[in-house]
Amino acid sequence: MIYLDHNATTPLDERVLEAMLPFLKTYYGNPSSLYRHGRLVRSAIDTAREQVAALVGVSAVQIIFTSGGTEANNLALATLTEPSKLAVSAIEHPSIIEPALHLKNQGHELAMINVDSNGLITQDAINQLIQYSPKLVSMMLANNETGVIQPIAHYAEQLKAKHITVHTDAVQALGKIPVLFDSLNVDLMTLSSHKIYGAKGCGALVVGRGITINPMLRGGGQEQNLRAGTENVAAIVAFGKAAELAKIELVERNERLLTLRTLLEQHTLTIPHLTIFAQDAPRLSNTVLFGIDGIDGEMLVMKLDKKGMAVSSGSACASGGNTPSYVLLAMGIDAKQAKTAVRVSLGIHNTATEIVDFVEQLRQFGQV
Ligand code: PLP
Repeated sequence: MIYLDHNATTPLDERVLEAMLPFLKTYYGNPSSLYRHGRLVRSAIDTAREQVAALVGVSAVQIIFTSGGTEANNLALATLTEPSKLAVSAIEHPSIIEPALHLKNQGHELAMINVDSNGLITQDAINQLIQYSPKLVSMMLANNETGVIQPIAHYAEQLKAKHITVHTDAVQALGKIPVLFDSLNVDLMTLSSHKIYGAKGCGALVVGRGITINPMLRGGGQEQNLRAGTENVAAIVAFGKAAELAKIELVERNERLLTLRTLLEQHTLTIPHLTIFAQDAPRLSNTVLFGIDGIDGEMLVMKLDKKGMAVSSGSACASGGNTPSYVLLAMGIDAKQAKTAVRVSLGIHNTATEIVDFVEQLRQFGQV
């Protein structure tokens, strides 16, 4: 298989697997137990917390481990207790959009932040946001479909000056660009392990100093009383190791991905009627979202699958229907063109040969 869907999930790094295996087998103790076997496991969690904290430049106490990015996003929005104003960008992951809509149904006021044709939040939108004066704003650092990177640090600084709490979903940015919590000027930040070659089912919410979190899960003292439940030890250890590797290899990985993406774009752009969405915006070095006029994205994905190539369509396939991507619609792209979208998201194990093979196949299927 040629796997080109790393924004969906990444394979587990061999070194990460090695690190987590003992915690599935030998060290099975409960980290809350007081005896040695438990303390040893507790200390592995502490190490993982340090490793994740180091990747984003915070102290370990600021990391709340969760079951993934989805839970961390929900937890970030759950900081709103009494009815208040909330704003989220129109291109957020469903794990922000849906809890935000739920809050609206519960009596909070919700504003959507629009993006321009490149998928970028504009300064005008931020100015309007400041006028609106919400309690909490959520804007993602990098988009999972287009790879577009927002100037979060710049915008968050302005919002914070107005005492607006800022959350960013950094799930797709982590491990691909430097993600330093303090430099981003945000108060809350979401991370996920399985996008950085860690295991599935583990993530974290990074919490700024002085920010109060309202726990969603109660009934245990874990994670500073903010996330009850016996820890997913092996997955947390894996997250720590994946974070350590991502920190060490960040520059090298990014350069490699950029070389592959350049090769991919140079080749695909010679295919007639092919458009790369958000091509002119700053984008993650691993992501290319494109469409070929007149060719349905989902159909193309299925055809490529038959040839052993895994890519994703831009549509909401999780819901089963061939609905156009709301991210592309928010960028002002019409529904017909949005339905052509196919996402290629590269990973550190991809090779130039795979890219060339993929483009060759695409060229054959891409005949209108
Ligand atoms: N946020 C973004 C931008 C994502 O791309 C994803 C996963 O696709 C998530 C959040 C959810 O993360 P998880 O799969 O760890 O729940």
